[in-house]
Amino acid sequence: MTAPSTARSSATDRTSVEVRLEDLRRTYGTVHALDGLSITLAAGELVALLGPSGCGKTTALRILAGLDEPTSGRVVVGGRDLTAVPANKRDMGMVFQAYSLFPHLTSRANVEFGLKLRGVNAAKRRTRAMEMLELVGLAVHAERYANQLSGGQQQRVALARALAFQPSVLLLDEPLSALDAKVRAQLRDEIRRVQLEVGTTTLFVTHDQDEALAMADRVGVMNAGRLEQLDAPQVLYSAPRNTFVADFVGLMNRVPAEVVDGSVSVLGSRVPTLDGSIRTGRGLALIRPEQLVLTRGEGGGARVVSVSFQGPISRATVRTADGTDLVAQLSGSAAAGLAEGAPVSVAVDAAGLLVTAP
Ligand code: ADP
Ligand code: MG
Repeated sequence: MTAPSTARSSATDRTSVEVRLEDLRRTYGTVHALDGLSITLAAGELVALLGPSGCGKTTALRILAGLDEPTSGRVVVGGRDLTAVPANKRDMGMVFQAYSLFPHLTSRANVEFGLKLRGVNAAKRRTRAMEMLELVGLAVHAERYANQLSGGQQQRVALARALAFQPSVLLLDEPLSALDAKVRAQLRDEIRRVQLEVGTTTLFVTHDQDEALAMADRVGVMNAGRLEQLDAPQVLYSAPRNTFVADFVGLMNRVPAEVVDGSVSVLGSRVPTLDGSIRTGRGLALIRPEQLVLTRGEGGGARVVSVSFQGPISRATVRTADGTDLVAQLSGSAAAGLAEGAPVSVAVDAAGLLVTAP
């Protein structure tokens, strides 16, 4: 879908703002929902907060929106302290997981709704709503009722509605999690395209690592109300700072290893250690399935336990001579000759590995 130039010119006529969350704490009784969360989103940046259920993602987003108050800490948007400013004065567009459209209003009326609240006249509302529906590729369904749209279409309308009044900040709380896998993948690309086009600073909350890595400029991994690591997707994936991040972002094997002089001996290879690794001695190297290389033949002492076909790739579980089970990722052709019980050798192909205490 290509966006028409009308939408592009009017959607980008606002300058982006920097958003700062400063040492946010929020307690509910004895629960520390946020335990000192600090993040600065650059103007126009899309940051994804990624983490397991209950780690404080929604709390962070609600505090930024003004729907909840921090126990301490500040919210600063465009250099202005908004901590005490009520939600309806904060100029933020939001999209939630559940379909929040008015079911008996048309797509266009739903998008116009926020503009009406802000006193925009009927002619301008209509023009603006149509521009926004074009931007999300739904102008053809402008006069359909929301309850006649698919889940994915409804979320596009919700995005159009959130952006219609040109908010300074866009907040997305698991907007794709109620959709099926194929629609989810399409819509995440679509949301990213629209966000780049309008340039609105965006906080996106999700528990889905694929979504976060695919969409965000930077991903913040949260654990128990704190940020474990905030980095570009590639950095987060290739250089996780600790085991929580490594485990949460991608499946990991743990393999006995020995660190000497800043590099690790593991499965017959020597690989530099990543920051955060133990300094010396025996430990466990964290290795992703795609960092393992299988070669067929006796001599390696490992055997294939099972192979599972997953479309473009396959995953093989392999048992090493010392009884450790490892999961390796293979291309379709590499998996073709690997039957259960086949002898293999296993090697590592990685630029750096995190090694933890055993
Ligand atoms: P996430 O969105 O990452 O799943 P939340 O921010 O919703 O997590 O919740 C973080 C923690 O705060 C959880 O332990 C949750 O039970 C608790 N919590 C959130 N909102 C409330 C509330 N209104 N009252 C009491 N506890 C809450
Ligand atoms: Mg949540």
